[in-house]
Amino acid sequence: MKLDVNQYFQGVDEQKEYDFSLDLSYIDIDGNFPFKSPVKINAIINSRIRIVTLKLKIDAEVNLICDRCLGEYVQNHSFTYDATLVKDANAAGFDEETNDEYLHVVDDEIDIGEIATDIVLLGLPTKMICSEDCKGLCFICGHNLNESDCKCEHD
Ligand SMILES: [Zn+2]
Ligand SMILES: [Zn+2]
Repeated sequence: MKLDVNQYFQGVDEQKEYDFSLDLSYIDIDGNFPFKSPVKINAIINSRIRIVTLKLKIDAEVNLICDRCLGEYVQNHSFTYDATLVKDANAAGFDEETNDEYLHVVDDEIDIGEIATDIVLLGLPTKMICSEDCKGLCFICGHNLNESDCKCEHD
């Protein structure tokens, strides 16, 4: 999913929008495959006075396993990403003073798929709970307490 961005550095002010659909169904997180349907990516590239910026909006439907009840649940996650494209490798990275992200362009291309994959994987919740009220599993018999109570004594 490489995008040739050379045209944007030619000094012509313009803006273009692209839509991609990214297949992440191969990604395995602890034996679970969270991305059953393709991730949607909207990319806007803007060029103004040779300053080229990239804006991404990523929408992912994620199938996760609840840490508490071990049930599968689906959540929609949206991510946004803004960066300034730079051809100079030294300028790439994150500038803490200005809070600006710089993305290094290699061979006039940026790889939208690779960028989006990183953003989605870094943005996944570390604590996965299907709902605030999830009662979890009984620690004695292992029954899912969201479905019904069990006969064990809980204090
Ligand atoms: Zn749960
Ligand atoms: Zn029980």
